[in-house]
Amino acid sequence: MSLVLAHYLPHPPTILAPLRDHGQSSLTATAEAVKELTAKIKNSGITTLVVISAHGERDPKKITMLTHESFRTDLLRFGDLSEYKLWPFNWNLAAELQAGTETSHRLVVSDEDVLDYGTAIPLTFLSTIENLKVVPLRVSGASEEEHWHFGSFLKDKIMDFDERVGIVATGNLSHIHLDESEVARRYDNTVLAALRAAQYNDLIAPDTDLVTTAKTCGLKPLLILLGALKGVKYETEIVTYEIDSGIGYLTAEFIF
Ligand SMILES: [Zn+2]
Repeated sequence: MSLVLAHYLPHPPTILAPLRDHGQSSLTATAEAVKELTAKIKNSGITTLVVISAHGERDPKKITMLTHESFRTDLLRFGDLSEYKLWPFNWNLAAELQAGTETSHRLVVSDEDVLDYGTAIPLTFLSTIENLKVVPLRVSGASEEEHWHFGSFLKDKIMDFDERVGIVATGNLSHIHLDESEVARRYDNTVLAALRAAQYNDLIAPDTDLVTTAKTCGLKPLLILLGALKGVKYETEIVTYEIDSGIGYLTAEFIF
């Protein structure tokens, strides 16, 4: 088995050291949780991390895989200089993902070398790790259910791959806690309840009005991750859930 860890991490810029250290974040528990889970990634012996984000330009139907010799992050606007770290690309796993007849209608590649901030923020906590390769994926305009199915496809490819691989899906929950807190709470609670019960129907076929109104960037990355765990015996640990500046932030670990 070469899938060895799966984490769901949020990406609030205020957990980055330059902002956190200047007292701009009340997300103390979230910052600690991200640190704790990324420390587990460092100690896991993985050689490759598949990172799944909802930010950046989307294809209407297909998952986008960024392909480049290496990737840099750009968090200068948040006062973080970690763009100087380069993340090498795992061409071999990428080739596996592209191989086979299923791929053409599921995956499209994009020659971009800058990782979006949603991916970059969690990776910042891994900047001291040496030689960790990444495969960046981005969600599409297709349905939630399609993302769930893509997760299964991704898992099959990773399981056949001869390296230790981790998955990090990154996203935030509702962004409207300040404006429409009742809707925001209803959406966030739907996600939390589904994870606690390991019953994902409300996520795979969600109330689309609720999802749209709640303004989330976290559902489709989460569904790819959950789809990748289909058939795996695991426990879900909700490490933290916090609301700050109107946004819900969830940090979760899937233990298997
Ligand atoms: Zn986001």
